[in-house]
Amino acid sequence: MLKVTNAILSARDASLVIGGRTILDRVNLDVRPNEIVTVIGPNGAGKSTLVRCLLGLQPLTSGEIIRSKGLRVGYVPQRFPQALSVPLDVRRLLSLTLKPTEDEIDAALSETGIPHLKDASVSRLSGGELQRALLARALLRKPELLVLDEPVQAVDFMGEARMYELISNVRRSHGCGILMVSHDLHMVMAESDHVVCLNGHVCCEGGPATVQQDPEFAKLFGPSAARMIAAYTHNHDHDHDSHDHHHHDHDHPHRH
Ligand code: ADP
Ligand code: MG
Repeated sequence: MLKVTNAILSARDASLVIGGRTILDRVNLDVRPNEIVTVIGPNGAGKSTLVRCLLGLQPLTSGEIIRSKGLRVGYVPQRFPQALSVPLDVRRLLSLTLKPTEDEIDAALSETGIPHLKDASVSRLSGGELQRALLARALLRKPELLVLDEPVQAVDFMGEARMYELISNVRRSHGCGILMVSHDLHMVMAESDHVVCLNGHVCCEGGPATVQQDPEFAKLFGPSAARMIAAYTHNHDHDHDSHDHHHHDHDHPHRH
């Protein structure tokens, strides 16, 4: 179904075939201003590839990608090259492509909750701290669209809640659209306006409440997933501490 609203980024029947294998099969997706759209799906579902197609980094086999003219995008990719040949501190990470002022760097790091890490070495950051530094870097572009590929991948369970809270705040303060990718079922749903379940093709989509009741969703993630999300949606109004400065991230045992 073609929607007529002012999407800033759209995929229309986007398909990608590599070596005879269909990676993406007629995917349709829209992101509107100020909207959080989450693409969810198992590993290998084509989520990162779809993001790369949407950003014009990977050409499609058929279909089309429509971006609003001059769209400013802040992109935090799933994998950040760790093996840098030169030591890099956070300040320089933020200055690699843009030339922000010191004040702009301070503001971005404050917003993402790591103002004390400006001189820290990137290679020594925890998973959550690195994600926050990369998010700060993306915010310096003053993005109209923020694209986050698995933003809580290396973050533990409590860090995850705070990261989603931060993302939600960023949407509010910057008024940008957010396209987020996750293989994870917890809070992602509650913070999203629109959820797209991807497994090569779009299995189901809609608001979090709609999607969790969809039989396709249960097929993809198992019958307990919908119940788990329902429980979370009802319980996520409590406050989380807004800082995890002294926190060492490690994988939560129940996440994988
Ligand atoms: P996800 O992010 O959902 O885990 P990916 O988008 O990374 O999945 O990958 C989806 C599938 O596409 C994987 O099986 C991956 O191996 C394959 N794939 C992605 N890019 C390429 C490429 N350039 N060449 C060959 N296969 C690729
Ligand atoms: Mg991926």
